[in-house]
This record gives sequence, C-alpha cells and structure tokens, in this order.
Amino acid sequence: MDFKKALELGVSGAGPDTAWLVPLLDAKGADESALMSAADKKRSVTMGDSVHLRGLIEFSNYCRKNCHYCGLRKDNKKVERYRLSKEKILETALKAEKLGYKTLVLQSGEDLQFSREEMSEVIKELKNKTKIAVTLSLGERDEETYRAWRKAGADRYLLRIETTDPEIFKKIHPDSDLEHRKNCLYTLRKLGYQLGSGVMVGLPGQDALSLAKDIVWMHDLGVEMIGIGPFLPHKETPLKDEKGGTLNQALRLIAVLRLVFPYAHMPATTAMGTIDPMGREKALQSGANVMMPNITPTEVRPLYEIYPNKICLDESAEKCFGCVTARIIAIGRTVGTDYGHTKRSDRRQATSEKRKAT
Ligand code: SF4
Repeated sequence: MDFKKALELGVSGAGPDTAWLVPLLDAKGADESALMSAADKKRSVTMGDSVHLRGLIEFSNYCRKNCHYCGLRKDNKKVERYRLSKEKILETALKAEKLGYKTLVLQSGEDLQFSREEMSEVIKELKNKTKIAVTLSLGERDEETYRAWRKAGADRYLLRIETTDPEIFKKIHPDSDLEHRKNCLYTLRKLGYQLGSGVMVGLPGQDALSLAKDIVWMHDLGVEMIGIGPFLPHKETPLKDEKGGTLNQALRLIAVLRLVFPYAHMPATTAMGTIDPMGREKALQSGANVMMPNITPTEVRPLYEIYPNKICLDESAEKCFGCVTARIIAIGRTVGTDYGHTKRSDRRQATSEKRKAT
C-alpha cells in the first residue's frame, strides 16, 4: 500500500492492520514529517495540549533477570546495587507531591526482596499520606501479588512486552517466557489496573512488520499507556556490539501509535533525550503527551543504568521539575494539572464510580 493511502486509513481511525501500519512505520523524508504532524494533530484533538508529569522513583536496581539489553541484569557484577528504604520512598513521594506531581511511578528491577507484603505496605503508606496516583513498574509477579498491590491502592501498572516476535523475545530474554509475560498483562487488565505496556524499537532482527504486529497485539490487549524505548546498547551486556535504535524510528512508532490509540497516554521518554537533546520535545510533537522526570534521590540515580549515558543524573527534583516545565512551555504546551487518568475506558469509569460510591 502506498504511504498516502496508509496515512488516510490511519487518520480515519481504521482498525490496525499490518497492511497500512508497515508503510507508515517505514516512512522517510516528507512522508515521515507528514506522519508526525498528523499524529500531533490527533493528539491535540483527543488529549489536548497539556503534558502530564509522572515522577519516576527508581527505588531498587536489584534484579533476578538477565535481559540481554539491560545494564541492571543480574550477571552485571559491575553495578553497585541499592535499595531505598520505605521511609526514603515516602520522603521522596512527599517532596514530589509538594512540587506538584499528581502521579508517581515506582520502578525497580525484579527485586523479590520487595515482597508482596513489603510493597503493599509502601503503597498503603503512599495512599494514606498523599493524594498521588500510584503507578507500578515492577516486572513479572504472580496474580496474588498483583491483586494485593491493587487492593493496597495501586492505580496503574506498566509492563512492557518489548516485542511480541517469539524469536526476538527469546533471544533477548534468556530467562523470560513470552506467553508468561502476556499472561501477566492479561491478569493486570483483569484486576482493574490502568494498563501500560510498550516495546523497544531498533532491536536486532526487528523490522517494520514486527513492530506492526506488536501494535496489533497491544490494540487487542487494550493498553491505555504505551512506553516506547529505543534500544541503546549497554557495554556490560551481551548486546553491546549491536547497532542501537534511532530517534526517528522511535518518533515514527509514537506517531503511528497515536493514530491507532487516540486516547492512550504516551511518554516522551528520557531515553529519547539521551539520543538527542531535543528528543523529548520531538516526541511531544509526534504524538506523546506525558513526561516522566526522574525524581530518584541523586545519590543513587547514576546506579540505575538500564541503558548508557542517561541524562538528568545530577539535578535535584526541584531543578528537574523546573526544567521540564520550561521545555513544555517552550513548545507551546501546558503542564497538566489533573491526574491524567486513562480516558475513554469503560473499565476505568466503572472503577472510579465504584470508588465514589464507597
Ligand atoms: S529489563 Fe528489567 S527485568 Fe530485565 S534485567 Fe533489566 S531490570 Fe531486570
């Protein structure tokens, strides 16, 4: 299918189909610009001009897994490992709320020391002492654990599938199983979390068709938040000599996702700012509507090195808040003042009505 026809289908809200997704994902030059500007327009209509800020706390860099692309993998003995105490997490959260954050993202490697009970306590404390929405990004756990955390008050869960291509998934995840990861996402959806997933772009062996299939799968799943990360090779991993993903691959993917998911929340990630100093702004102008400033205490921030050359390692939470706000305003957007909960989700509607009634 030619690009023009594919873009028409995308803009019209046609159901995702690899036949039109592939030409968009492969767009170059003027076509690429047309795609990004169509996605930016769609974002403005469906999500408005405000950019939601989610404060990211990376509270533990311990991990039981060995993902081939990740600097936190268990076998990387060069990382100094850390865990923040419950008190430190809470102190960071209170500071974030004071600054104006409405959402916190609690992220860690798959660290079983933060057990079902321990994490439930953290979530309950956060919900008791703040009015903040809590997003978890803690990897694969069992159903009872996900249920307990939801019951403790967690609102959202992010679990990136990274790729739905069975061969690529297996090559980069020596100790994970694609079907198991999918089942975790089905469970999270069933439990009433606002659901986030996403993929890595630029992985060895990945092409536009593979990404198009990921999009169709995420559409079937009904994701409400989508995180896109370019693959950036880390020198202490088995993929250290591979070519990394590019900013434009990531931007095209965000743009296509915006056409397919008009109401999804999509971050302009720090990884995009690592590739290009204006990468986050470019993502916001290609369909993204969220930023996730890192508010992890600066003394441990450099130790959470999933990918290399992360930016914003030394800045205080106050400075980061000021910096991202200025960046948002500089491109003519505004900072979101509400929670930025999922839009257009019947499940979400039902949940909030249930909460209001109790
Ligand atoms: S990607 Fe996540 S699960 Fe995999 S090694 Fe890194 S921190 Fe662990």
